Amino acid sequence: MKYVDAHLHLADAEYKGQAGIMLEDAKSSDVVALVSNATDYATCLENLKLRRDNSALVYIALGIHPWNVNVLTENELEETITFIQSQKGTVRAIGEIGLDYKYETVWEKQMAVFERMLHLAETMDLPVIIHSRGTTDQIVDMLPSYRLKRILLHWFSHPLSALAKAIDNGYFITEGPPATYSQGIREVIANAPLTNLLTETDGPVKYFKKPFSAQLTKPSFIRNVVEAIAEIKKTQTEEVAQQIATNFESFFNIKIS
Ligand SMILES: [Zn+2]
Repeated sequence: MKYVDAHLHLADAEYKGQAGIMLEDAKSSDVVALVSNATDYATCLENLKLRRDNSALVYIALGIHPWNVNVLTENELEETITFIQSQKGTVRAIGEIGLDYKYETVWEKQMAVFERMLHLAETMDLPVIIHSRGTTDQIVDMLPSYRLKRILLHWFSHPLSALAKAIDNGYFITEGPPATYSQGIREVIANAPLTNLLTETDGPVKYFKKPFSAQLTKPSFIRNVVEAIAEIKKTQTEEVAQQIATNFESFFNIKIS
């Protein structure tokens, strides 16, 4: 069995000094590829190091997360874009980017940065990994005006009407540990074809329900996610793992070993 973690943040502070432990955990639990997402300039640099040191396992997505927009200077934005452009061939997607209503106070700036990131993905011919908390409808409506290679809506939670549009447009969604306990997420999975689904941990985000119980999020949690999807889809875990590995390869243009 081969598992994949299509979205996590190995360079985040909560994993400081633990990346090696996380990668060992991945190896010992058949997680054969991880896509570590940046959230700002510093994590772009740190993720590149992780990629260089662990090229058989770690792939990277680079971008600016909406949560970091309020402290972002004009200089840092330009510097980050220039850096990402310099990594063509190494960077596999632009992410994590998006819009979040929790940070509505800097809404115009959020939108401006998101549009720059989408434009960057267009010019670099790369897929995008999108955060859309409270903004899924709006984002699903705005994306068709961009010429984007492939689109992944990470941790898709609602509404189901936007899910239907996203699926019609060939977008992918990722789901993580809440697939084991959240009725809302399980309903999304039930309504999404297996061919549009990817698995994620979004670590170091923590999950407080059992069996995760607030421990540091690890790549091995992917197995729980795949088992939950198999249960919802009433099929075998092998079939789910196989289809998700195929989806991962076509989304990121990565051949997993
Ligand atoms: Zn994330």
